[in-house]
Amino acid sequence: MISMLDLPAQYRRLKPELDAAIQRVLESGQFVLGEEVASFESEFAAYCGSRFAVAVNSGTSALHLALLAIGVGPGDEVITVPLTFVATVAAILYTGAKPVLVDVTPATLTLDPDQFEKAVTPRTKAVVPVHLYGQPADMEPILDIACRRHVTVVEDAAHAHGARYRGQAVGSIGELTCFSFYPGKILGAYGEGGCVTTNNPDIVHKLRLLRDWGCERRYHHELRGYNYRMDALQAAVLRVKLRHLDAEIQRRRENATQYRCLLAGTRARMCTPAEDRSHVYHVFGIHAPRRNDLQRQLAERGIQTSIHYPVPIHLQPAYSDLGYKIDDFPEAKRAAGEELSLPIHPELTSSQVEMIAESVKRHLSLVR
Ligand SMILES: *Cc1c(COP(=O)(O)O)cnc(C)c1O
Repeated sequence: MISMLDLPAQYRRLKPELDAAIQRVLESGQFVLGEEVASFESEFAAYCGSRFAVAVNSGTSALHLALLAIGVGPGDEVITVPLTFVATVAAILYTGAKPVLVDVTPATLTLDPDQFEKAVTPRTKAVVPVHLYGQPADMEPILDIACRRHVTVVEDAAHAHGARYRGQAVGSIGELTCFSFYPGKILGAYGEGGCVTTNNPDIVHKLRLLRDWGCERRYHHELRGYNYRMDALQAAVLRVKLRHLDAEIQRRRENATQYRCLLAGTRARMCTPAEDRSHVYHVFGIHAPRRNDLQRQLAERGIQTSIHYPVPIHLQPAYSDLGYKIDDFPEAKRAAGEELSLPIHPELTSSQVEMIAESVKRHLSLVR
């Protein structure tokens, strides 16, 4: 069985360091925020080339607080894409603002800058580009439009730890960047986690208040806040994994290169990474004819795959009241119908990649 993720193998590889880190937290008696979380925040900020990181209890909380910290609320509009995990849109709704969806560009499946500009109204407060699959959105035109139209850019980088756009690390590009440390993400905790990076000290102050009940001093509440604090155990695990992140991203890239070579010239279409961006391959997606049959056949051969995402947000029953129609976002809809994510995680061996590629080719009937 080849799975989409092999966290037990990663644990075996990093066991001495992880066990020591967990032990250190147990012995400290400090389980929420504290020094371990503060150390993770400065290490992660340094990794992203950003001045600050504020750690929270999930990527969803990171998006929610980032939007609140820039003053998004009822009556405002926030622009994002339909081809994303539901949390991107849910976090906008948590603030009371209205999500306004625009389609993705076919080449990278990220926010289309032209459509973003057309969707801006006097009520638009923020735009949330999603660095889908681990490839940054086209940030230069997005930042340029946002600046001209007085819109704040809040990046959803839940897939994109370590990615770069024109040499600049994700986390130091726009004004606020939100990360998830859900176990399956590129940098994953042993439970839930997330953070916001920014260079703006006023925003940091607000984020720190909001994640901990709006307290400046304990039991004195300046703002109506939340219990969105990060656990010390998660921070300790993340500090260990952060030290290995670049090597793991390198393994993901090698796997991607191998897939590209093996599947070149077949009917499996692969997104070409844009030249000005570095992709970290949280997801390696192919677009294949008869995708669902391919997924079934791979499963029969013991190869687990997944789909990111089978139903775009505007077609989800829970969000039907946003009022979109089935054909409003043709690129997102097409991707949802054709995409298949192959295993790409760092523990995968090159013979496993070969076996998966061979199985894909067999389905495409290019191999007898
Ligand atoms: C995982 C994810 C989130 C939410 O992160 P959680 O830590 O699960 O709350 C947000 N956006 C995208 C694109 C994601 O993949």
